[in-house]
Amino acid sequence: MKHIMKCPNCGIYTMKPVCPLCGGKTEIAKPPKFSPDDKYASYVRIVKEKERISRGLLKK
Ligand SMILES: [Zn+2]
Repeated sequence: MKHIMKCPNCGIYTMKPVCPLCGGKTEIAKPPKFSPDDKYASYVRIVKEKERISRGLLKK
């Protein structure tokens, strides 16, 4: 299994242990955790917020 490396200086991703841009040592990039639940939760939060705002506007 290949590790995706990330240069802490440039913030770029590479497969190489050395950054192709700055020549610095790269670190193993931790894959971003994609949680559908989190995404959904934040989406619901936004919808509820909008709903609250539109209700507030309607009440005026
Ligand atoms: Zn770099």
